[in-house]
Amino acid sequence: MPRRVTKANPAGVRPYDHTLFAPAIREHQAAAEALNELIFAMRRSDEHTGAKPQTQAEWLTAVADLAAAIPYADSCQRCPDDKTWLNVPLRAEIENGWLTGHYLCHNGHRWTCGWSVSSPAYW
Ligand SMILES: [Zn+2]
Repeated sequence: MPRRVTKANPAGVRPYDHTLFAPAIREHQAAAEALNELIFAMRRSDEHTGAKPQTQAEWLTAVADLAAAIPYADSCQRCPDDKTWLNVPLRAEIENGWLTGHYLCHNGHRWTCGWSVSSPAYW
């Protein structure tokens, strides 16, 4: 597979067409706005940790990983109101068809949960 981000295409954009579904789904625009906010939040975060994406290619990989992990979202068992939050694994390990997700809720609780890689899917 050719590299997506190049000097001639530093954003890594490729031809795509969302015109069939995006106009009817306001969440498409909301997702774009949330991703834009995420970029700026990452830029504001600690510049010395090096833990955030450092390149456009790493950013694109992180976003793709986030999107792919959404079916493995889990609720925090320690927060009674957590059913309204989407806790996507912050880290995923995959071995022998099993995904171990590492989670962090909005109240700072951490946990892990295991899933069959083949079980959840949205499409
Ligand atoms: Zn919690």
